[in-house]
Amino acid sequence: MKPNIILLISDALRAMNLKFYGYKEDTTPYLSRLYNKGELQFIENFYSTTDQTDPSFTTILSGRYPLTHGILRHGPDVRKEDIITFNKTKTRLLSELLVKNGYQTIAIDFLGRWHKRGFKIYGEPDEIHNTKTTISKIIRHKIIKKVLKGTYIYAPYESLAIRISQFYPKHNIYFKLDGISYMIGAIKILDQVIKEKKPFFLMIHFWDTHTPFTNVPRSLWKKYFKKGINRTPMNEMLRKIKNDKWREIVKNYHLRRIKYVEEIEPKYNGEINYVDYAIKMLIEYLEDRKIYEETVIFLTGDHGDNLVRDGIFVGHGGLYQRVIKVPLIIINSPFNKDIRKKHSQHIDLVPTIIELTGIEIKNYYLDGESLTKVNSKKTIFAVSSVARKRYAVLSDDLRYKLIYSPTIDDGMDKYGGLWMKDRIELYDLTKDPDEKINVANEYPDIVKELEAKINTIVTRLNRIRMKLSITLHK
Ligand SMILES: [Zn+2]
Repeated sequence: MKPNIILLISDALRAMNLKFYGYKEDTTPYLSRLYNKGELQFIENFYSTTDQTDPSFTTILSGRYPLTHGILRHGPDVRKEDIITFNKTKTRLLSELLVKNGYQTIAIDFLGRWHKRGFKIYGEPDEIHNTKTTISKIIRHKIIKKVLKGTYIYAPYESLAIRISQFYPKHNIYFKLDGISYMIGAIKILDQVIKEKKPFFLMIHFWDTHTPFTNVPRSLWKKYFKKGINRTPMNEMLRKIKNDKWREIVKNYHLRRIKYVEEIEPKYNGEINYVDYAIKMLIEYLEDRKIYEETVIFLTGDHGDNLVRDGIFVGHGGLYQRVIKVPLIIINSPFNKDIRKKHSQHIDLVPTIIELTGIEIKNYYLDGESLTKVNSKKTIFAVSSVARKRYAVLSDDLRYKLIYSPTIDDGMDKYGGLWMKDRIELYDLTKDPDEKINVANEYPDIVKELEAKINTIVTRLNRIRMKLSITLHK
């Protein structure tokens, strides 16, 4: 029988906060145990292709770069032309490819819209099981959601919802449940699904690791909090944010439950630990039902997060390593050890999974390649359209990274220049992994070389997108 595939995507989970990627603390004690038992493999140099959720999920599930599938922006910023390109290029999701080939397809997710394609069961657990209370039904009603669609209009709405949920937890007004509730819901669905005796593809989108970090129990984040250090009150940081709009979003949404700047990273770590616990529940369930052996589980982040940079909370915009370097962890991996060192990206996930299932996909263009085939020095390339277009590319040895804006307009970004510093940024990642010193002026030749690399990739992807968009009329 074909293997079951589980794809876990933890929103804003960056590689650098996991022990596998060199973090000083163990934020995933359960995964570490699996690693020690030899049941887990991870890819050292794995990257997202962008910095926002909608384009990244579309890439993860389609095997195509954002420049190919056309979804370049997130949420309320998604433009009509993004959707038109997505449709015109006949972009397919993994769920569509698998469901056609006999897989049962389930997603625990709230993104909706085109992300639902190919999933037989899709939604949050209480939607799927129809256990929503009246209040949560009203507040999460389609029309209300539509009215409040703008993420940033969402911000006060969400913080109100979070506040109400604290007093009335059973109403679950807050529209994204925590990871453990998600897992309980997923397990309940799997209980039905496995009776069918057909392989399944399950995707779970955890929101826990994305701000506002309100799910984590105190005991879980406190263990990552160092006692006796100086504490900076949030107001002090908020005062440093020059852009009014960003300050309001940070205050009312992202960090609304945070008192001190020094709590941010411990809370993030606690949320990672919380997801780790949900994964433990999943694996124990699979073992109990004797289907663990025939299931391969992938864990990644759709993008990472800057958290705090230069004393200011920046969020996940921009293309710094903190944002684009994400984990790829494979549990029950059937692959050779050599894949660990390969450079790869989200575009390679679909081809890898397709190969694993033994399905033959004809007439579908993929930007990525299976991890078993990918060239070990593959070029890492990412795009951001969040404030204005930015591209990033790494040198083949991963030592240098160029982040660059094709437009000359210097306007920096709408959040007051927090997601980028200069129009052209070059970093020596060996000496400066945190990308603090722009060395573009010192190494003009490297800038030129990497800029040419970007131009070649962008030209190629534009051509591919055009080609895919040509519809043949009968
Ligand atoms: Zn995201």
